[in-house]
Amino acid sequence: MASVPFKKILIANRGEIALRVICACKELGIATVAVYSEADRYSLHTRFADEAICIGPSKSARSYLDIPSVISAAEITNVDAIHPGYGFLSENAGFAEVCEVSGIKFIGPRPDVIRSMGVKERARAIMQQAGVPILPGSDGVLGTAEEALGTADRIGYPVIIKASAGGGGRGMRMVSRAEDLPNLFDQARNEAAAAFSCGDVYVEKYITTPRHIEFQILADEHGEVEVLGERECSIQRRHQKLIEESPSPRVSRELRETMAAGLREAMRAIGYTNAGTVEFLMDETGKLYFIEVNARIQVEHPVTEMVTGTDLVKAQILIAGGARLDAVIPRPIRLTGHSIECRINAENPDTFTPSPGRITALNLPGGIGVRVDTAAYADGVIPPFYDSLIAKLIVHGRDRPEAIRRMIRALGMFVVEGIYTSIPLHQRILADPDFQSGNFDTTFIPRFLAREKDLREGKAPLHIVA
Ligand code: ADP
Repeated sequence: MASVPFKKILIANRGEIALRVICACKELGIATVAVYSEADRYSLHTRFADEAICIGPSKSARSYLDIPSVISAAEITNVDAIHPGYGFLSENAGFAEVCEVSGIKFIGPRPDVIRSMGVKERARAIMQQAGVPILPGSDGVLGTAEEALGTADRIGYPVIIKASAGGGGRGMRMVSRAEDLPNLFDQARNEAAAAFSCGDVYVEKYITTPRHIEFQILADEHGEVEVLGERECSIQRRHQKLIEESPSPRVSRELRETMAAGLREAMRAIGYTNAGTVEFLMDETGKLYFIEVNARIQVEHPVTEMVTGTDLVKAQILIAGGARLDAVIPRPIRLTGHSIECRINAENPDTFTPSPGRITALNLPGGIGVRVDTAAYADGVIPPFYDSLIAKLIVHGRDRPEAIRRMIRALGMFVVEGIYTSIPLHQRILADPDFQSGNFDTTFIPRFLAREKDLREGKAPLHIVA
């Protein structure tokens, strides 16, 4: 293992990912500083870090997203580095730059790389140039609906209008007919402007029944890049992932190796460093097309950790300290068994409305092959100000059927009282024959929910087993 590069790290985040980073630091013998908003005074990350500093009011714009407050906390506590987690400032190139000029190491890619990957149509062009296949689409940002119509005519309907600064599925509109385009173009632009303060949009070919498959990258600061297999993330609701797994039931060893070789070259060419994810859509014929790079650790990173036996967060820290990949992870990368993650959200599983509040009772599942990443605790409060993810339930099994059975039993032992959670929804999905067969795409959830509704209303027969 590489030597430890930092004495003290500030974690510019909250919830389960802040705790996850604290765990990695503790095991590396690095002291930690938590930052928290007024709503998070009693959160576990403030309790388990060595020091904790309040950086502002509950609203994230005035706390977790407030760069001067975070940097002041880092300066007061004299940290060597900042880990941004995911979300918040993690892909903010300006923040990475401020860290750099303040003499604090930002644990992530270089600011210029974050910036170019964050502009999605620029990332498309860069990846295409590096030899990675992209979906047919516009050449950069489109100024007017007429230009979008021109592109759509050229590539053929359906198309999707996407926000250049996109994230979390916002600013996206699928268009199936030319006459709908002008209206949807304006909607996408307005939604993007409201969400990202940038209304730039571009157009790409829409794949009707894609699988979302993404590859985990680790790259050191000496030009070495490794690909740690893929994750299958097709179980999504409104473009938000709900269940992820590794490996993908649809990726063969041969495809995995071909993709890894291509991505190693491409990521080296663009000077990528630290952890990142390259996301693809797979079409009906099994071809993969690049959609975006996430220049940070992702929510679903644990499934990769389970099948590769690596600690991706420790790897991030060591790489940021200058370590070589060989000293950080076991190589060559070998995938062992199968891992699945269910995102447990504080929301009503039927209406999907957020369900913040006090957790009155909590039982976390355990036992062989079960991992829970969470900052939830009994009598703790889930504040209404942040995203609704309260826990990640991760299982590892010998193979996919064992992982599924393990997940079903772990979900059954996961008890959260006082608030609604998505646990019952996960239980229903895990029991579904199409999920169990591995034969699904990103349209699984809407079809699944429609079928459930029909059943409730007596409109459809129970499952007909062929
Ligand atoms: P975001 O950054 O907002 O998450 P992505 O580009 O990662 O946006 O896309 C999120 C999801 O939206 C994908 O996983 C997929 O379900 C859907 N999507 C995006 N682009 C396309 C496309 N060209 N065709 C079909 N679905 C798409």
